[in-house]
Amino acid sequence: MAETCDVIIVGGGGSGLAAAVSAAEHGADVLVLEKEAEPGGTTGIAVGSFTANRTSMQQQAGITDSVDDHAEDAARFAPASIEARNNHELRRWFLAHSAETLTWLQGMGLSFQGPSPEPPNRVPRMHNAVPGARAYVVTLHKRLRRLGGRVLCGANVVALTRSATGGVTGTIARIGDGGDRRVFTARKGVVLAAGDYTNSKELIGRHLGEAFQQVEGINEKSTGDGHLLAEREGAKLVNMDVAYGPELRFVPPARRGFQQWLPAGGLAARLMARLLPMRRLLVTWQHPENGLFDDGAILINQQGARFCDERLWPDREIAVADQSGKVCYILLDESLSERYSAWPHFISTAPKIAYAYVADYLKLRRDVAVAGDSLDAVAAARQLSAEALTETVRATNQERSVNGLPKLTGNGWVLLGPAKAYFTTTEGGVAIDGQFRALDMQDEPISGLYAIGQNGLGGQVLWGHGLHIAWAMTSGRLVGRQLMGVA
Ligand SMILES: Cc1cc2nc3c(=O)[nH]c(=O)nc-3n(C[C@H](O)[C@H](O)[C@H](O)COP(=O)(O)OP(=O)(O)OC[C@H]3O[C@@H](n4cnc5c(N)ncnc54)[C@H](O)[C@@H]3O)c2cc1C
Repeated sequence: MAETCDVIIVGGGGSGLAAAVSAAEHGADVLVLEKEAEPGGTTGIAVGSFTANRTSMQQQAGITDSVDDHAEDAARFAPASIEARNNHELRRWFLAHSAETLTWLQGMGLSFQGPSPEPPNRVPRMHNAVPGARAYVVTLHKRLRRLGGRVLCGANVVALTRSATGGVTGTIARIGDGGDRRVFTARKGVVLAAGDYTNSKELIGRHLGEAFQQVEGINEKSTGDGHLLAEREGAKLVNMDVAYGPELRFVPPARRGFQQWLPAGGLAARLMARLLPMRRLLVTWQHPENGLFDDGAILINQQGARFCDERLWPDREIAVADQSGKVCYILLDESLSERYSAWPHFISTAPKIAYAYVADYLKLRRDVAVAGDSLDAVAAARQLSAEALTETVRATNQERSVNGLPKLTGNGWVLLGPAKAYFTTTEGGVAIDGQFRALDMQDEPISGLYAIGQNGLGGQVLWGHGLHIAWAMTSGRLVGRQLMGVA
């Protein structure tokens, strides 16, 4: 027999939990179906920035802002060809509601630092959850439990159900390891909040091209299930060929990051955030600057060999994804190591440090940075063949006698990595109207079906930092109200 509730939410990440809390606040009997063993999704591993205008924190800092200014600045982040694809009406409407969402989250006990500047935003707009993005998940989940909402983990939604008259009425999920099929029925609607498709070979191959299929998503669980479920019901998917990435990022350490051990909410989190030296929070998945390669750093694989022209995007990333283990290393000689030790030449940006140099990596990320006085020394530290690495440097220098790039020399070598090519997010989503209803190919709403977060991007381009989480939270908050008939 089917289990019935008011609202079913597919996915217990940021947007799904926000939607569940919002609907439950207005009296709904809510059920979140989450395929993993615990809620969180990409939201739970993100940095945690939330970009918004006219917030109380901006006002306290004496910053005057407006929706119009933010809408104008938001258009300056993506390359023009990508920005041309944006759904301007929807993005402006979202930006007009993001400050209320921040206040709503603060009311639940979530703390933020900032606002911090992020050019080309003309004023500081970035608010960072303390101690990190996991705080969204912990805070929302706790609030949902208090409101009587339920999260059923290990519930992988594999299909949607329809009534005889055509509307979406519920979901079919496979539960637990056994994969038993269970039917869940919703009186008011099914909300797709299943995240992005960065790790869907099918959707990436179909929309970006086969060459990109080997590139991984940072969150390996982001397999575009919600996009595929919507598509099967006749929904229109927009901007599916737009992705953030691929780009090189250092592989995270096997151990849980330092930040993961911090309290994720309440007074303890606020105190820890003030007391701890934030430099230690050099988070994972940092992106090494492309300028390293323009300046002469080389990429090598686990065999110690070069395999691409390091200066060409995205061929470089595609080639990295084709190497054994999909990993690569970046070799800096003595002069490059010195160059990348001071502004304006940094290895990567990093929260709270702002810019991380060679010394920061050698101190804070010894899992991806090693220095030595010889090629043999750095090769040994990463179990690479010293002979192969020496031969690679010799061949590179021979090539550089012709192409004019500086030769790799000296007695101080730095090897960065392992790094991989990753998609960070995908920007394609279900087409939606102003009530978050999924639209079909004729732009008509599909009765009973809603989409939010990355699943329901609706054609928006949310480049820059902080808009994806702001959208996840805002779309979740507003769809919950919408479903319960609250304006
Ligand atoms: C490393 C990293 C850092 C980032 N930092 C920031 C940042 O600081 N600021 C910012 O704005 N953006 C950031 N982003 C992007 C942002 O985190 C995401 O876009 C946003 O959190 C997505 O929220 P969501 O609710 O749409 O999806 P998710 O949080 O991914 O939630 C989707 C959930 O649905 C579940 N699910 C999927 N399929 C099914 C199914 N079939 N059945 C049941 N459940 C299912 C998943 O397991 C998951 O829990 C970052 C991304 C990455 C990768």
